Amino acid sequence: MEWIDNVIFTVILALASFLFAKNANKIRRNIFLGKEINRSDRKGERWALMAKVALGQSKMVVRPVAGFFHILIYVGFVLINIEVLEILIDGIFGTHRVFSSFLGGIYTLAINFFEILAVGVILACLVFLARRVLVKIKRFHSPEMKGWASSDAKNILYIELALMYALLLMNAVESNFDSETVGPFLISGLIAPLFNGLEQSSLHILERTFWWLHILGILAFLNYLPFSKHFHIFLSFPNVWYANLDQKGRFSNMESVTEEVKKMMDPNADPYAAPDPNAPPPERFGAKDVMDLNWVQLMNAYSCTECGRCTSECPANQTGKKLSPRKIMMDTRDRLDEVGKVIDKKGSFIDDGRSLLDDFISREELWACTTCNACVQACPIGIDPLSIIIEMRRYLVMEESAAPQELNLMMANVENNAAPWQFAQADRLNWLEEA
Ligand code: SF4
Ligand code: SF4
Repeated sequence: MEWIDNVIFTVILALASFLFAKNANKIRRNIFLGKEINRSDRKGERWALMAKVALGQSKMVVRPVAGFFHILIYVGFVLINIEVLEILIDGIFGTHRVFSSFLGGIYTLAINFFEILAVGVILACLVFLARRVLVKIKRFHSPEMKGWASSDAKNILYIELALMYALLLMNAVESNFDSETVGPFLISGLIAPLFNGLEQSSLHILERTFWWLHILGILAFLNYLPFSKHFHIFLSFPNVWYANLDQKGRFSNMESVTEEVKKMMDPNADPYAAPDPNAPPPERFGAKDVMDLNWVQLMNAYSCTECGRCTSECPANQTGKKLSPRKIMMDTRDRLDEVGKVIDKKGSFIDDGRSLLDDFISREELWACTTCNACVQACPIGIDPLSIIIEMRRYLVMEESAAPQELNLMMANVENNAAPWQFAQADRLNWLEEA
């Protein structure tokens, strides 16, 4: 490789890395717009959960077909990155297959293994494309999956296919070099005859072309990720680590409300005591906008893979209600992106007259939830759409008193009769007289 190629390569690599870091940092900033929450407890349990669910893909394989092919892509991409490391070193220092010089025969074995993985990735991408384009699996074609969501899912599969083909073609061309020092390659050896009879100079140009296509494709892929649901390849591990470990569906209490209730129940409390002048201003009850959610909920939104497993398990969705837990996560991310753009433009967030509630998620969606927790259980990376729904309902009830009529009636009964029914406490034992 000419030195000028190394310089060009290094500049492109630096630019691509800078751009990626800049956009990834915006996502980080957006996530930390959320409220503080302590999820660093029970570390042993968290590491174990991450090993099982994120590393071990235990929830992916609940659906065996998708699980198997997802594992092919996952393992393929992780291991093929070793070859990418070699490409980066070659690109910067002008070497050629730098690892081959000190790995000897093991190098050829490793490349053959990567080629088998590359075929696995190609197969998995084709199956995933077929499921979306030919079989048209229902959960990939629901209303929230129109437009960008649908193209994003396909784009990434096309990019992965192109990267794997470039890798195999690069190796196949090299198999035809007179001065071949590596190989034979198992898979690319099968397509190498395509290039038989070409001049050595043409082969070198072709090999360089596929080499550049492969690495430029990887850098383009990297910079595509911050705008794609595929950012989950970075966030799914921390997402699982910070998952809610409490009992399924257990609701959190608001500390400020608990304090008030405790004071009301305390017979020694002075009912006329003046409020503490140094007390912080009361927080908003529940969530109207993304900044009212905690940072783990916001990280959940950026981690969502839009797989739709939650929606397909949701009883409200199954019975034709407007609710889709996947849409709750997508809306949260879209609103957060919108807030981020305001910050980019104005330096800090200035009320733009919009909010997650009503502009993205409707009240009808929120009240359709049965709080069954099936969506949380189904999510392969520990996302909790229910917690967002609950926080938004909390806002509606406590800040706007805007619960549905049936709920308002029930809550009034609890307040007045200490029971959800419309009977006075004094009448509770009337049924005994009838017995
Ligand atoms: S908790 Fe709500 S959103 Fe989640 S599956 Fe149950 S009904 Fe659907
Ligand atoms: S919340 Fe989980 S299950 Fe639902 S679409 Fe996102 S990743 Fe899939």
